[in-house]
Amino acid sequence: MRNVKVYEETWPLHTPFVISRSARSEARVVVVELEEDGIKASGECTPYPRYGESEASVMAQILTIVPQLENRLSREELQTLLPPGAARNAVDSALWDLAARKANQTLTHYAGVTLPQSITTAQTVVIGTPEQMAASAAALSEKGAQLLKVKLDDHLISERLVAIRSAAPAATLIVDANESWHAEGLAARCQLLADLGVAMLEQPLPAGDDEMLANFIHPLPICADESCHTRESLASLHGRYEMVNIKLDKTGGLTEALALADEAAKQGFALMLGCMICTSRAISAALPLANRVRYADLDGPTWLAVDVEPALHFTTGTLHL
Ligand SMILES: [Mg+2]
Repeated sequence: MRNVKVYEETWPLHTPFVISRSARSEARVVVVELEEDGIKASGECTPYPRYGESEASVMAQILTIVPQLENRLSREELQTLLPPGAARNAVDSALWDLAARKANQTLTHYAGVTLPQSITTAQTVVIGTPEQMAASAAALSEKGAQLLKVKLDDHLISERLVAIRSAAPAATLIVDANESWHAEGLAARCQLLADLGVAMLEQPLPAGDDEMLANFIHPLPICADESCHTRESLASLHGRYEMVNIKLDKTGGLTEALALADEAAKQGFALMLGCMICTSRAISAALPLANRVRYADLDGPTWLAVDVEPALHFTTGTLHL
């Protein structure tokens, strides 16, 4: 038998996280804890309302498989029991963690991956006035961030980006509109981004409007986030996006995330690794993918007032391993 615990945690943020569709002041996560043969392991997920998830719905999904989980359910079996999403991620992450601990290895070694000593992570500039965003970009840049992920909504695009670019002239900028833009005017905005040296645009249009990107010639790569969940998403992204943002809370864990990375790379997509607002526990679960991606966007825990123990070691713009 395995012992299984499922519970919620709330982690206050030091600064509100503001994007086009929401503002958050805390991370609300669901944790699955396993104990088998005296070895404890855990996995974490962040339920996401955009995908119809709440803490309650995710807890309820996980609880439906607790009997199988107690009965030593495998990762392979899990893939057929729960759909892709946060609930499966917490369980899949816990099963990977358990397997690695039983083998007395770190998760990355257990997954056959050797990581460098440090990984550059994007640092997020959340939505605010152009002055606030420029100040945030300048502060992050001064502290060593080389890659800034700028959140935008449908307003003040040039004002915000021009202010940020002049505040952080050397930074690589990527922009995430979180589905808030429209097909009308998109070409001009893409040209503005390219002129300002923005390296990539993430999910400008709502996921349902992907066909508008077909035959849309754009001067910088476009990355699918809300439009890409699992390998099944890839077929509808061809000719529309050049990059996919892989997140364990969308794939339903590392098992599918690894498969998605393989398949997306094989089909010619560039890769990005992202996260939700989460603790170091969730970032650790994604690390086997960290050296395979063009952009790692793993700054979730840096928004927390206090991180889980043991915490990963972040300095601004860098994750030290
Ligand atoms: Mg995104």
